[in-house]
Formats: sequence, structure tokens, C-alpha cells
Amino acid sequence: MKKILLTLFILILGTQLFAQNSNRTERVFLISLDGLRWQELYTGADEKLISHEDYVRNPEALIETFWDENPEVRKKLLLPFFWSVIAENGQLYGNRTYGNYVDVANGRNFSYPGYSELLVGYVDEEINSNAKIMNPNTTVLEFVNNQSGYEGRVAAFGSWDVFPYIINTERSGIPVNAGFDPAEGDGLTDREIFLNELLHQIPSPWSTVRLDAFTHHYAVEYIKKHEPKLVYIAYGETDDFGHDGNYQAYLYSARQTDSFIRNLWEMVQSHPVYKDKTTFVITTDHGRGTDPVDEWRHHGSRVEGSEEMWIAVIGPDTPATGIVKEEMHLYQKQVAKTVARLLGLEYENNRPVGDVIETVFGR
Ligand SMILES: [Zn+2]
Repeated sequence: MKKILLTLFILILGTQLFAQNSNRTERVFLISLDGLRWQELYTGADEKLISHEDYVRNPEALIETFWDENPEVRKKLLLPFFWSVIAENGQLYGNRTYGNYVDVANGRNFSYPGYSELLVGYVDEEINSNAKIMNPNTTVLEFVNNQSGYEGRVAAFGSWDVFPYIINTERSGIPVNAGFDPAEGDGLTDREIFLNELLHQIPSPWSTVRLDAFTHHYAVEYIKKHEPKLVYIAYGETDDFGHDGNYQAYLYSARQTDSFIRNLWEMVQSHPVYKDKTTFVITTDHGRGTDPVDEWRHHGSRVEGSEEMWIAVIGPDTPATGIVKEEMHLYQKQVAKTVARLLGLEYENNRPVGDVIETVFGR
């Protein structure tokens, strides 16, 4: 009899634990590519831009690398990881040709308001510039970091030097390695020491954004050492090459970032702490224009279409639907609560936040 009671007790306890967090996801990587358009994600290199003399210096090489008449082939040339691993095992939102819309809700369509909306989960009208001002709003990163079992297990990496302000490192205490920050602390790996040397020896084309290879490898080294539960990685090159009017570099950078994300996914899937327990949520801070053609360089409230964005998800709780063709209208502000839900947490803030994207969980 005692044995039967004990078995019953264990069974009930087991069901209750299951009810608390039915997700298989235990860790989340939130990843963004600054200003990468949904048009390139879904159709690859742009026919109007790939050999445009104003934006491309070496059209032959670019056509050889990225061109095919068929956009289904072309998109794979640009983003092979997205169109193999994610398309086959995850979900892609924001293909507007199916009536599947993802938009920025803040109406400003530039970086700080976008990253704030993405990480905070609501639009703060006061966030109206890219100035280095500490974000008065709490991000989902800070929320997660304040939950039991997560303290000190959240970290962020960004190419743009404004991320420490967006994430408010002073208040949140979340380590943010961004801009021209070297890796710091005791026990730096050989690779971190080498990256710190290179950071000064390989000049960035921009004064406020470092090249993404630094951001990526600093993140990789940190993840191997500290095994964080929630990581945010913000790649930046695509936007800056866009503003520079360098379509060639924009495409090569997009493809390289795709390869960085593959590298992260393979690292996660071969690591016992992360394997089959980690979800990647990949997105952007805003879109760019399309018409007239030079608008591809720009974004902002006056640039039509620059509110248009996309989201990709891959992980153990997300059905492998590939391109989501259901008609729906999602917003950037829905990502924060979705990230928390993946970890089994209910994100709330002092203002209402965007709803969980239920289809990420197959609902
Ligand atoms: Zn920009």
C-alpha cells in the first residue's frame, strides 16, 4: 500500500512540475541583424541593385555569387542557413506576399526606438533619438535576469556602441559588450586576448559600430565560458553598409551573418547544456525603403516601407512550418513576451506589453 501511495505521489508531483513549464526550451538566443530588409530575406539579392553602378563596384563578382533568375534559388545563395536549417526546422514570419505581416509599431523606424520596442515589449514615445541616454524602461533581459535561477545568466553583445544604454547596464547589471569594448575580466581566453589586440588593429569603417566578427567571437567565447541562459547578440554591419550605399558589402555582410548564426546553432547543438533545449529568435530593428531605388539606403518615419520587418524562430517548442503563410499581423513589441514565454516565464512590465506570438508554440 505504501508503495502504491508513494508511486501516486510521485506521479502527481511529476504532473505538476510538467504543468509549470511544459516547454522544452531552457535557453534562448535573441539575435538581430540591423536593418536587413524582408525583401532580401525572402527573395535574395535585389535585381534593381545588384548591378547598379551607384551601389556596386564589381557587379560581375556579385552576380556570380548572388544572382539567379529564380528568387527561390537566389535567397539560398544569400542566406543558406536561413533557407536550409531554419526553413526546414523552424518558422519564418513577415513574408508579406502571403499577407503575413511583421511591423515596427513605434513609427520612427530607426534603431534605438526599434531595439527598445524589441527588448522592452512596448513603445515609449519618449524614445525618439539614437542618443546615448540610459533607457528608462526595463527590458525583458533585465526582467529575466531578476528571476530566480537567472541572475547573472543573461548577457548581451552588440556591434553598435549604444547597446549599453538601451539595456541600461547601470540599472540592469547585465554585462553588455558592445561598440569598441574589449573583453574584460579575469581568465580571458587566448582568443579574447587576440580579439582585443585586433580590435585596434582592424579599423572599423564607422565611428560608433565595430565590425560584426568581433561581436560574434566575443559572444562565442563568453558563451563557452559562462553558459548563459539568455543571450542577446546584435549584429550591425548590414545597416551601416546600407547607409553607405554599398550594396556589395550589404550582401556579403548578410551572408556572413547567416554563417555566424549557423556557427552559433552548431555550437549550441553540440553542447550538452544547450542541445535540443535552446531556441533562437532572429529579427531586425527596422526595414528600409524600396522606391525610388535610392531609398534602400534609408529608413525612418519618412521612408515608406521601413516599418516592415521579419522574425525567424527555431527551437524545440516551435513547429517546423517554414515560411508562415497564415494571414496575420505581428509587431516588433511581441518579441519580448515571446522570449520570456519560451523560458517558461510570464513577462510583465509597468505598461502593457505586446502579446506572445502563440504560433511559435504551435497554438
Ligand atoms: Zn540605420
